[in-house]
Amino acid sequence: MFNRRKFLKLSAATASVAAISRSVKAKSIDAPVPTNYPIVISTWDFGVAANKEAWKVLQKGGRAVDAVEAGVRVPEADMHNHTVGRAGYPDRDGHVTLDACIMDEYGNCGSVAAIENIAHPISVARLVMDKTPHVMLVGDGARQFAIEQGFKAEELLTDESRKAWKEWLKTAKYSPVMNIENKQRTQGSKYNHDTIGMLALDAKGNISGACTTSGMAFKMHGRVGDSPIIGAGLYVDNEVGGATSTGVGEEVIRNVGSFLVVELMRQGYSPENACKEAVQRIIKKKPEIAKQIQVGFLAINKKGEYGAYALQDGFSYAVCDQNKQDLLVPGKFFYKDANHK
Ligand code: ASP
Repeated sequence: MFNRRKFLKLSAATASVAAISRSVKAKSIDAPVPTNYPIVISTWDFGVAANKEAWKVLQKGGRAVDAVEAGVRVPEADMHNHTVGRAGYPDRDGHVTLDACIMDEYGNCGSVAAIENIAHPISVARLVMDKTPHVMLVGDGARQFAIEQGFKAEELLTDESRKAWKEWLKTAKYSPVMNIENKQRTQGSKYNHDTIGMLALDAKGNISGACTTSGMAFKMHGRVGDSPIIGAGLYVDNEVGGATSTGVGEEVIRNVGSFLVVELMRQGYSPENACKEAVQRIIKKKPEIAKQIQVGFLAINKKGEYGAYALQDGFSYAVCDQNKQDLLVPGKFFYKDANHK
């Protein structure tokens, strides 16, 4: 029964919650905010070289959006990288189809999905953002736009990728390989799946992000993952921070992963804890699937604090700031190994 005593108790509790939130507010206004920028972070070991390119822009006081575009063009151009850009593994019909998106400090964004024959989808996404009234172009339309903008159409399927695809066709079993990516890369990659997601905070403290991939190797023709989807593979809110993802895109899309991470940071989560919560959301919704796949999130907040979290062991991310140019950090993770012991 609702009586006066209970009401008074409740009112006291509400008042003390209000007092706490006032003191938190007061503290956040008074306390000096330690900041660390410029800084750029990105997914996986190939992020180290990409960050260095982005750093050239940041060091000169350039905009974060220019830095992330320049940075992710490095793995896009890398002929040994079979998961991003040129030389990416094809879909199951032999087409190399690329996905990318970019987002700046004003909330502008551009994206291309399932684009063929264009080696730098991130720069096409940038032009979608800068020169069209749209956010996303796909397939033939994206390719046509790129060519109109002066991009060169080229064959992206390399001999090595064709060989891997022919090998895959022998069984044609579509099952994304668990996260053993770093090992695979050093020991001669088979069919892994890794995206570069990059987040930068420039000298003015503005945040931007970019994300680019060839997606899951040997995917169905027309399949689009999380990477070019704003909110899933990438999200930036200049008031709060930015987040990006890598891994099996379907599970990231289902949870609007990067948006979720940014919103959790808005509520006060640290970048790492926000990523961890997003990973746990995937586990909670699809526990059986979660054990079999890899998903990793990477995030940065307005102060330049960063963190990451993944489903499985093996995820890593690269960090570059004034103090360290080529740091590679092992991501924290939920499952110890593929057998979940
Ligand atoms: N997220 C990418 C996709 O689903 C692949 C990856 O990052 O490994 O297309």
